[in-house]
Amino acid sequence: MAVTTVLTPSTAEELAGMLREATASGRRVDVVGGGTRSRAGRPGPPGDVEIRTGGLRRIVAHEPQDLTLTVEAGLPVTEAVALTAGAGQDWPQAEVRDGSTIGGVLATGASGRRRLRSGAVRDSVLQIVIATGDGRLVTAGGRTVKGVSGFDIPRLAVGSRGTLGVITQVTLKLWPLPEARGWFGAGGGLEERLALARAAVTGAGRPTAVILTPGRIDVELAGPPDDVVPPPGMEPSGDPPAPVGTGVVEVGVPPPRLGDLSVLLEDEGFAYEARFGVGTCLVAVDDAAGVARVRSWAVGLGGHAGVLDGPDGLREDPWGPPPPGLALMRRLRDAFDPAGILNGRLVPWA
Ligand SMILES: Cc1cc2nc3c(=O)[nH]c(=O)nc-3n(C[C@H](O)[C@H](O)[C@H](O)COP(=O)(O)OP(=O)(O)OC[C@H]3O[C@@H](n4cnc5c(N)ncnc54)[C@H](O)[C@@H]3O)c2cc1C
Repeated sequence: MAVTTVLTPSTAEELAGMLREATASGRRVDVVGGGTRSRAGRPGPPGDVEIRTGGLRRIVAHEPQDLTLTVEAGLPVTEAVALTAGAGQDWPQAEVRDGSTIGGVLATGASGRRRLRSGAVRDSVLQIVIATGDGRLVTAGGRTVKGVSGFDIPRLAVGSRGTLGVITQVTLKLWPLPEARGWFGAGGGLEERLALARAAVTGAGRPTAVILTPGRIDVELAGPPDDVVPPPGMEPSGDPPAPVGTGVVEVGVPPPRLGDLSVLLEDEGFAYEARFGVGTCLVAVDDAAGVARVRSWAVGLGGHAGVLDGPDGLREDPWGPPPPGLALMRRLRDAFDPAGILNGRLVPWA
Protein backbone atom coordinates (compact mmCIF):
# COMPACT_ATOMS: atom_id res chain seq x y z
CA MET A 1 0.00 0.00 0.00
CA ALA A 2 1.32 3.50 -0.88
CA VAL A 3 2.52 5.53 2.12
CA THR A 4 1.24 9.08 2.64
CA THR A 5 4.03 11.65 2.98
CA VAL A 6 3.38 14.05 5.86
CA LEU A 7 4.55 17.66 5.40
CA THR A 8 4.45 20.43 8.02
CA PRO A 9 5.31 23.79 6.42
CA SER A 10 6.20 26.70 8.70
CA THR A 11 5.52 29.54 6.25
CA ALA A 12 2.81 30.24 3.70
CA GLU A 13 5.45 30.43 0.95
CA GLU A 14 6.77 27.00 1.85
CA LEU A 15 3.24 25.60 1.82
CA ALA A 16 2.53 27.16 -1.59
CA GLY A 17 5.74 25.59 -2.93
CA MET A 18 4.57 22.17 -1.75
CA LEU A 19 1.30 22.64 -3.61
CA ARG A 20 3.11 23.73 -6.78
CA GLU A 21 5.20 20.58 -6.59
CA ALA A 22 2.17 18.36 -5.95
CA THR A 23 0.38 19.92 -8.93
CA ALA A 24 3.41 19.36 -11.16
CA SER A 25 3.72 15.72 -10.12
CA GLY A 26 -0.04 15.04 -9.95
CA ARG A 27 0.10 13.94 -6.31
CA ARG A 28 -3.15 14.09 -4.32
CA VAL A 29 -3.07 16.25 -1.18
CA ASP A 30 -5.07 16.03 2.06
CA VAL A 31 -5.08 19.16 4.22
CA VAL A 32 -5.16 18.69 7.99
CA GLY A 33 -5.67 21.38 10.63
CA GLY A 34 -6.35 19.97 14.10
CA GLY A 35 -7.58 16.73 12.52
CA THR A 36 -10.54 16.72 14.89
CA ARG A 37 -13.01 15.98 12.09
CA SER A 38 -11.40 13.75 9.53
CA ARG A 39 -14.34 11.31 9.06
CA ALA A 40 -15.90 13.36 6.28
CA GLY A 41 -16.65 13.15 2.57
CA ARG A 42 -16.74 9.94 0.52
CA PRO A 43 -14.92 6.88 1.86
CA GLY A 44 -11.68 6.33 -0.03
CA PRO A 45 -7.92 6.01 0.21
CA PRO A 46 -5.94 8.89 1.73
CA GLY A 47 -4.01 11.30 -0.50
CA ASP A 48 -0.36 10.82 -1.50
CA VAL A 49 0.64 13.82 0.62
CA GLU A 50 -0.78 15.18 3.88
CA ILE A 51 -0.11 18.86 4.53
CA ARG A 52 -0.50 19.79 8.20
CA THR A 53 -1.05 23.46 8.99
CA GLY A 54 0.15 23.23 12.63
CA GLY A 55 3.44 25.01 11.80
CA LEU A 56 1.51 28.12 10.73
CA ARG A 57 0.42 29.46 14.08
CA ARG A 58 1.73 32.99 14.42
CA ILE A 59 -0.36 35.83 15.79
CA VAL A 60 0.31 38.49 13.17
CA ALA A 61 -1.60 41.41 14.70
CA HIS A 62 -4.23 42.00 17.37
CA GLU A 63 -5.66 45.52 17.12
CA PRO A 64 -8.00 45.78 20.13
CA GLN A 65 -9.05 49.34 19.28
CA ASP A 66 -10.14 48.20 15.79
CA LEU A 67 -11.61 44.89 17.05
CA THR A 68 -9.54 42.87 14.57
CA LEU A 69 -7.24 39.87 14.86
CA THR A 70 -4.86 38.62 12.16
CA VAL A 71 -3.49 35.11 12.66
CA GLU A 72 -2.06 32.21 10.73
CA ALA A 73 -4.57 29.48 10.02
CA GLY A 74 -2.96 26.64 11.97
CA LEU A 75 -3.40 28.46 15.30
CA PRO A 76 -5.66 26.48 17.67
CA VAL A 77 -8.95 28.31 17.97
CA THR A 78 -8.90 28.03 21.78
CA GLU A 79 -5.61 30.01 21.84
CA ALA A 80 -7.08 32.77 19.69
CA VAL A 81 -10.17 32.99 21.87
CA ALA A 82 -8.08 33.10 25.08
CA LEU A 83 -5.95 35.90 23.62
CA THR A 84 -8.91 38.06 22.61
CA ALA A 85 -10.75 37.39 25.89
CA GLY A 86 -7.79 39.00 27.67
CA ALA A 87 -8.70 42.22 25.83
CA GLY A 88 -12.43 41.83 26.57
CA GLN A 89 -13.13 40.63 23.02
CA ASP A 90 -14.66 37.54 21.44
CA TRP A 91 -15.12 35.63 18.14
CA PRO A 92 -18.74 34.62 18.80
CA GLN A 93 -19.54 33.32 15.30
CA ALA A 94 -17.18 30.36 15.52
CA GLU A 95 -17.68 26.82 16.80
CA VAL A 96 -14.87 26.64 19.35
CA ARG A 97 -13.77 23.13 20.23
CA ASP A 98 -10.57 21.73 21.70
CA GLY A 99 -7.98 20.86 19.08
CA SER A 100 -9.62 22.74 16.17
CA THR A 101 -7.62 25.28 14.21
CA ILE A 102 -8.79 28.64 12.90
CA GLY A 103 -8.31 27.34 9.32
CA GLY A 104 -10.32 24.19 10.07
CA VAL A 105 -13.20 26.16 11.55
CA LEU A 106 -13.27 28.45 8.52
CA ALA A 107 -12.74 25.69 5.93
CA THR A 108 -15.70 23.80 7.38
CA GLY A 109 -17.81 26.93 7.85
CA ALA A 110 -18.34 25.85 11.44
CA SER A 111 -20.59 28.54 12.88
CA GLY A 112 -21.30 28.03 16.55
CA ARG A 113 -24.54 28.14 18.51
CA ARG A 114 -24.39 31.93 18.80
CA ARG A 115 -25.06 32.43 15.09
CA LEU A 116 -28.59 33.64 15.92
CA ARG A 117 -27.29 36.95 17.23
CA SER A 118 -23.77 37.21 15.81
CA GLY A 119 -24.27 35.83 12.29
CA ALA A 120 -22.46 33.07 10.41
CA VAL A 121 -18.72 32.55 10.77
CA ARG A 122 -18.20 33.68 7.13
CA ASP A 123 -19.39 37.16 8.18
CA SER A 124 -16.47 37.49 10.60
CA VAL A 125 -13.74 37.23 7.96
CA LEU A 126 -12.31 40.54 6.76
CA GLN A 127 -9.26 39.27 4.89
CA ILE A 128 -8.04 35.85 3.88
CA VAL A 129 -4.83 34.54 2.36
CA ILE A 130 -5.10 31.20 0.58
CA ALA A 131 -2.62 29.08 -1.29
CA THR A 132 -4.45 27.77 -4.35
CA GLY A 133 -4.10 24.16 -5.48
CA ASP A 134 -1.46 25.20 -8.02
CA GLY A 135 0.49 27.12 -5.39
CA ARG A 136 -0.43 30.78 -5.91
CA LEU A 137 -0.75 32.86 -2.73
CA VAL A 138 -3.89 34.97 -3.06
CA THR A 139 -4.82 37.74 -0.60
CA ALA A 140 -8.45 38.85 -0.69
CA GLY A 141 -10.46 41.35 1.34
CA GLY A 142 -8.90 43.99 3.61
CA ARG A 143 -7.75 44.15 7.20
CA THR A 144 -10.15 46.94 8.12
CA VAL A 145 -13.86 46.69 8.86
CA LYS A 146 -14.57 49.14 6.01
CA GLY A 147 -15.95 47.33 2.92
CA VAL A 148 -13.70 46.20 0.08
CA SER A 149 -14.96 45.74 -3.46
CA GLY A 150 -14.04 42.92 -5.84
CA PHE A 151 -14.68 39.18 -5.81
CA ASP A 152 -15.68 37.93 -2.38
CA ILE A 153 -13.04 35.23 -2.08
CA PRO A 154 -13.20 35.18 1.74
CA ARG A 155 -16.83 34.00 1.56
CA LEU A 156 -15.93 31.50 -1.13
CA ALA A 157 -13.12 29.99 0.92
CA VAL A 158 -15.21 29.68 4.10
CA GLY A 159 -16.97 26.31 3.95
CA SER A 160 -15.10 25.08 0.88
CA ARG A 161 -13.39 22.37 2.98
CA GLY A 162 -9.94 22.96 1.58
CA THR A 163 -11.07 21.97 -1.93
CA LEU A 164 -10.12 25.34 -3.50
CA GLY A 165 -6.98 26.14 -1.56
CA VAL A 166 -5.32 26.06 1.84
CA ILE A 167 -6.16 29.00 4.08
CA THR A 168 -2.85 30.30 5.46
CA GLN A 169 -3.83 33.55 7.21
CA VAL A 170 -6.99 35.44 8.16
CA THR A 171 -8.10 38.73 9.65
CA LEU A 172 -11.18 38.33 11.84
CA LYS A 173 -13.65 40.92 13.02
CA LEU A 174 -14.10 40.63 16.79
CA TRP A 175 -16.96 41.55 19.10
CA PRO A 176 -16.84 43.00 22.62
CA LEU A 177 -17.35 40.28 25.26
CA PRO A 178 -20.75 40.73 26.90
CA GLU A 179 -20.78 41.77 30.57
CA ALA A 180 -22.90 38.75 31.50
CA ARG A 181 -24.07 35.55 29.87
CA GLY A 182 -26.35 32.71 30.98
CA TRP A 183 -28.39 29.71 29.83
CA PHE A 184 -32.04 29.33 30.83
CA GLY A 185 -34.32 26.43 29.98
CA ALA A 186 -37.42 24.36 30.49
CA GLY A 187 -38.71 20.84 29.88
CA GLY A 188 -42.27 19.99 28.88
CA GLY A 189 -44.25 18.75 25.89
CA LEU A 190 -43.08 19.48 22.37
CA GLU A 191 -45.90 21.92 21.53
CA GLU A 192 -45.14 23.89 24.68
CA ARG A 193 -41.39 23.97 23.95
CA LEU A 194 -41.96 25.00 20.34
CA ALA A 195 -44.07 27.92 21.56
CA LEU A 196 -41.28 28.96 23.95
CA ALA A 197 -38.73 28.69 21.12
CA ARG A 198 -40.80 30.88 18.79
CA ALA A 199 -41.38 33.43 21.53
CA ALA A 200 -37.66 33.54 22.33
CA VAL A 201 -36.68 34.10 18.68
CA THR A 202 -39.26 36.80 17.95
CA GLY A 203 -39.49 38.50 21.36
CA ALA A 204 -37.61 41.53 22.66
CA GLY A 205 -33.97 41.10 23.76
CA ARG A 206 -32.61 38.76 21.11
CA PRO A 207 -30.97 35.68 22.69
CA THR A 208 -27.60 34.52 21.39
CA ALA A 209 -28.97 30.96 20.95
CA VAL A 210 -32.31 29.15 21.11
CA ILE A 211 -31.70 25.40 21.18
CA LEU A 212 -34.33 22.66 21.12
CA THR A 213 -33.21 19.15 22.11
CA PRO A 214 -35.36 16.09 22.92
CA GLY A 215 -37.46 17.03 25.95
CA ARG A 216 -35.86 20.47 26.45
CA ILE A 217 -35.60 24.04 25.28
CA ASP A 218 -32.64 26.19 26.30
CA VAL A 219 -31.82 29.79 25.45
CA GLU A 220 -28.64 31.75 26.05
CA LEU A 221 -28.89 35.44 26.93
CA ALA A 222 -25.97 37.89 26.91
CA GLY A 223 -25.61 41.57 27.71
CA PRO A 224 -25.82 43.81 30.81
CA PRO A 225 -26.47 41.70 33.95
CA ASP A 226 -30.00 43.14 34.31
CA ASP A 227 -30.91 41.63 30.91
CA VAL A 228 -29.57 38.18 31.72
CA VAL A 229 -32.50 36.91 33.78
CA PRO A 230 -34.79 33.89 33.26
CA PRO A 231 -37.42 34.45 30.53
CA PRO A 232 -41.02 33.57 31.54
CA GLY A 233 -41.42 29.83 32.15
CA MET A 234 -37.66 29.11 32.26
CA GLU A 235 -35.05 28.65 34.95
CA PRO A 236 -31.22 28.77 34.98
CA SER A 237 -29.77 25.83 33.05
CA GLY A 238 -26.49 25.00 31.25
CA ASP A 239 -25.00 24.65 27.78
CA PRO A 240 -27.16 21.86 26.26
CA PRO A 241 -25.26 18.68 25.31
CA ALA A 242 -24.61 17.98 21.61
CA PRO A 243 -26.34 14.90 20.10
CA VAL A 244 -24.14 11.81 20.15
CA GLY A 245 -24.49 8.83 17.79
CA THR A 246 -22.42 6.69 15.45
CA GLY A 247 -22.43 9.71 13.16
CA VAL A 248 -23.77 13.26 12.92
CA VAL A 249 -25.84 14.74 10.09
CA GLU A 250 -26.16 18.49 9.68
CA VAL A 251 -29.52 19.65 8.34
CA GLY A 252 -30.38 23.09 7.03
CA VAL A 253 -34.02 24.05 6.43
CA PRO A 254 -35.77 27.42 6.05
CA PRO A 255 -35.89 28.71 9.67
CA PRO A 256 -39.73 28.66 9.89
CA ARG A 257 -39.69 24.91 9.05
CA LEU A 258 -37.38 23.88 11.89
CA GLY A 259 -40.34 23.18 14.19
CA ASP A 260 -41.78 20.71 11.62
CA LEU A 261 -38.41 18.94 11.45
CA SER A 262 -38.22 18.76 15.27
CA VAL A 263 -41.65 17.09 15.38
CA LEU A 264 -40.52 14.38 12.93
CA LEU A 265 -37.21 13.82 14.74
CA GLU A 266 -38.76 13.63 18.19
CA ASP A 267 -41.56 11.30 16.97
CA GLU A 268 -38.98 8.80 15.75
CA GLY A 269 -36.62 9.12 18.72
CA PHE A 270 -33.63 10.81 17.04
CA ALA A 271 -31.24 12.76 19.29
CA TYR A 272 -30.92 16.26 17.80
CA GLU A 273 -29.97 19.87 18.44
CA ALA A 274 -32.17 22.34 16.54
CA ARG A 275 -30.91 25.93 16.38
CA PHE A 276 -34.05 28.08 16.21
CA GLY A 277 -34.03 31.31 14.23
CA VAL A 278 -31.08 29.95 12.23
CA GLY A 279 -32.61 26.83 10.67
CA THR A 280 -29.78 24.37 11.24
CA CYS A 281 -29.98 21.12 13.16
CA LEU A 282 -27.42 18.46 14.15
CA VAL A 283 -28.91 14.96 14.24
CA ALA A 284 -27.27 11.82 15.67
CA VAL A 285 -27.63 8.85 13.29
CA ASP A 286 -26.58 5.23 13.67
CA ASP A 287 -26.76 3.87 10.11
CA ALA A 288 -27.18 4.77 6.45
CA ALA A 289 -30.96 4.26 6.72
CA GLY A 290 -31.02 6.95 9.41
CA VAL A 291 -29.11 9.32 7.10
CA ALA A 292 -31.59 8.65 4.28
CA ARG A 293 -34.60 9.14 6.57
CA VAL A 294 -33.37 12.46 7.97
CA ARG A 295 -32.40 13.63 4.48
CA SER A 296 -35.84 12.81 3.04
CA TRP A 297 -37.45 15.01 5.72
CA ALA A 298 -34.93 17.81 5.15
CA VAL A 299 -35.48 17.79 1.37
CA GLY A 300 -39.27 17.62 1.88
CA LEU A 301 -39.06 20.78 4.00
CA GLY A 302 -37.06 22.62 1.33
CA GLY A 303 -33.64 21.97 2.86
CA HIS A 304 -30.65 19.65 2.69
CA ALA A 305 -28.75 17.24 4.90
CA GLY A 306 -25.07 16.26 4.82
CA VAL A 307 -23.07 13.80 6.90
CA LEU A 308 -20.71 15.88 9.06
CA ASP A 309 -19.02 13.01 10.80
CA GLY A 310 -19.29 9.24 10.75
CA PRO A 311 -17.64 5.94 9.79
CA ASP A 312 -17.33 4.95 6.12
CA GLY A 313 -20.65 3.05 6.07
CA LEU A 314 -22.54 6.26 6.83
CA ARG A 315 -20.81 8.26 4.11
CA GLU A 316 -21.56 6.40 0.88
CA ASP A 317 -23.73 9.40 -0.08
CA PRO A 318 -22.52 12.19 2.21
CA TRP A 319 -24.22 15.13 0.49
CA GLY A 320 -27.43 13.94 -1.18
CA PRO A 321 -28.85 15.57 -4.33
CA PRO A 322 -26.57 18.21 -5.95
CA PRO A 323 -27.64 21.86 -5.86
CA PRO A 324 -28.46 23.86 -9.03
CA GLY A 325 -25.07 25.68 -8.97
CA LEU A 326 -23.03 22.53 -9.60
CA ALA A 327 -21.57 23.61 -12.96
CA LEU A 328 -20.35 26.87 -11.40
CA MET A 329 -18.81 24.99 -8.46
CA ARG A 330 -16.86 22.83 -10.93
CA ARG A 331 -15.58 25.87 -12.84
CA LEU A 332 -14.43 27.50 -9.61
CA ARG A 333 -12.58 24.37 -8.60
CA ASP A 334 -10.87 24.22 -11.99
CA ALA A 335 -9.77 27.86 -11.57
CA PHE A 336 -8.36 27.39 -8.06
CA ASP A 337 -7.07 23.85 -8.29
CA PRO A 338 -6.55 23.06 -12.00
CA ALA A 339 -4.93 19.65 -11.44
CA GLY A 340 -7.62 18.63 -8.93
CA ILE A 341 -5.13 17.62 -6.23
CA LEU A 342 -6.84 19.02 -3.12
CA ASN A 343 -8.98 17.07 -0.64
CA GLY A 344 -10.49 14.80 -3.33
CA ARG A 345 -12.82 12.90 -0.98
CA LEU A 346 -14.39 16.22 0.05
CA VAL A 347 -15.21 17.49 -3.44
CA PRO A 348 -19.00 17.20 -3.53
CA TRP A 349 -20.68 15.41 -6.44
CA ALA A 350 -17.34 14.74 -8.17
C1 LIG B 1 -16.64 16.10 9.38
C2 LIG B 1 -17.04 17.19 10.31
C3 LIG B 1 -17.82 16.88 11.44
C4 LIG B 1 -18.20 17.87 12.33
N1 LIG B 1 -19.00 17.52 13.37
C5 LIG B 1 -19.41 18.48 14.21
C6 LIG B 1 -20.28 18.16 15.28
O1 LIG B 1 -20.65 17.01 15.47
N2 LIG B 1 -20.67 19.14 16.10
C7 LIG B 1 -20.24 20.40 15.90
O2 LIG B 1 -20.65 21.26 16.65
N3 LIG B 1 -19.39 20.74 14.90
C8 LIG B 1 -18.99 19.82 14.05
N4 LIG B 1 -18.15 20.14 13.02
C9 LIG B 1 -17.52 21.43 12.98
C10 LIG B 1 -16.10 21.33 13.65
O3 LIG B 1 -16.17 21.83 14.94
C11 LIG B 1 -15.10 22.10 12.84
O4 LIG B 1 -15.08 21.59 11.55
C12 LIG B 1 -13.70 21.99 13.45
O5 LIG B 1 -13.61 23.05 14.31
C13 LIG B 1 -12.57 21.87 12.39
O6 LIG B 1 -11.25 22.20 12.94
P1 LIG B 1 -9.92 21.31 12.68
O7 LIG B 1 -8.75 22.23 12.77
O8 LIG B 1 -9.91 20.11 13.58
O9 LIG B 1 -10.09 20.85 11.17
P2 LIG B 1 -9.66 19.47 10.47
O10 LIG B 1 -10.51 18.34 10.96
O11 LIG B 1 -8.20 19.28 10.53
O12 LIG B 1 -10.05 19.82 9.00
C14 LIG B 1 -11.43 20.01 8.65
C15 LIG B 1 -11.47 20.32 7.15
O13 LIG B 1 -10.88 21.59 6.90
C16 LIG B 1 -9.76 21.43 6.00
N5 LIG B 1 -8.74 22.35 6.48
C17 LIG B 1 -8.15 22.39 7.71
N6 LIG B 1 -7.31 23.43 7.81
C18 LIG B 1 -7.37 24.06 6.61
C19 LIG B 1 -6.75 25.24 6.08
N7 LIG B 1 -5.87 25.97 6.80
N8 LIG B 1 -7.04 25.59 4.79
C20 LIG B 1 -7.91 24.87 4.03
N9 LIG B 1 -8.54 23.74 4.49
C21 LIG B 1 -8.27 23.36 5.76
C22 LIG B 1 -9.36 19.97 6.09
O14 LIG B 1 -8.75 19.50 4.90
C23 LIG B 1 -10.72 19.32 6.30
O15 LIG B 1 -11.42 19.20 5.08
C24 LIG B 1 -17.79 19.18 12.10
C25 LIG B 1 -17.02 19.49 10.97
C26 LIG B 1 -16.65 18.50 10.08
C27 LIG B 1 -15.85 18.80 8.85
